[in-house]
Amino acid sequence: MIQRDYLIIGGGIGGASACEGVRRHDKRGSVTLVGAEVFPPYKRWILSKDFLREKDPHPKKLLEPSEAWYEKYKIETRFGTVVTQFNIDRRLAVLANGETIEFNKACLAMGSRPVRPPVAGTSLGNVIYLRTIRDAFALKETATHEKGIMVVGGGLLACEAAASLRMMKLKVGLMHRDSYLLDRYIDPETGTWLTEYFAKHGVTLSMGESLNGFEGKTVLRNIQTKSGNLPGHMGRQLLNISRRRKKGFMQWATWRFILIE
Ligand SMILES: Cc1cc2nc3c(=O)[nH]c(=O)nc-3n(C[C@H](O)[C@H](O)[C@H](O)COP(=O)(O)OP(=O)(O)OC[C@H]3O[C@@H](n4cnc5c(N)ncnc54)[C@H](O)[C@@H]3O)c2cc1C
Repeated sequence: MIQRDYLIIGGGIGGASACEGVRRHDKRGSVTLVGAEVFPPYKRWILSKDFLREKDPHPKKLLEPSEAWYEKYKIETRFGTVVTQFNIDRRLAVLANGETIEFNKACLAMGSRPVRPPVAGTSLGNVIYLRTIRDAFALKETATHEKGIMVVGGGLLACEAAASLRMMKLKVGLMHRDSYLLDRYIDPETGTWLTEYFAKHGVTLSMGESLNGFEGKTVLRNIQTKSGNLPGHMGRQLLNISRRRKKGFMQWATWRFILIE
């Protein structure tokens, strides 16, 4: 059994910050950071911004702190490793490979993960949730094959991704169930201005529209909406594309997601 003074679970920026915090107060205690992703903690928030837009982005540029930092501060790291069991009474955590870590103190920094909307077709192979570096690469790859993209959702991430994809010169549609973008954050007047701004920059908007489901056997063939209408422009695109190979991705956080046809 492995014994550690500190066990940090979650290889996101929260986990990395916890390691930094521990080292500020305890220079010697043994620390293990366990993260499910194969990458060390990185700036996840760049994924929908520069990382998406850059032609040849390198994950190393996103790392925070650098890989060398863990070595310098003697933090043992186990990336690509999931903690499957956690028992606070016995102070034990079990890793997916069966190893057990006994700890004095633990920090749970497991963040969040995208929630799948309760509609049909969310597991189609070409539906991608934008959360990790891998998702961002999958989206970039998809964007090289497909010219039309449908973003569903009108929150921060949806707006950011739509703007980035538009800057990549892709045709972008955006479907949102409210009447203006960022409705949870800004007033109607500003929201209406923002919505018009997106339209002016070539995003085909379908406001007041909700997702009903995705059609397709293994890949996305069609998007069903509550009103039954796809945005005219994007709808035609979908129909066209449905006769050939189509790609899609979805980013979903609470009630937002993004689709690439
Ligand atoms: C595309 C995108 C853009 C964003 N833009 C912004 C922005 O502009 N501004 C802003 O403030 N925020 C933004 N955010 C949100 C921000 O990235 C998150 O708030 C932040 O990443 C949370 O960090 P965290 O470490 O708490 O959790 P996470 O980043 O979710 O990291 C948790 C980690 O724990 C791992 N994990 C979970 N369970 C286990 C387990 N059992 N065993 C091992 N590891 C596990 C996960 O795999 C993950 O790597 C954005 C998010 C995304 C996805």
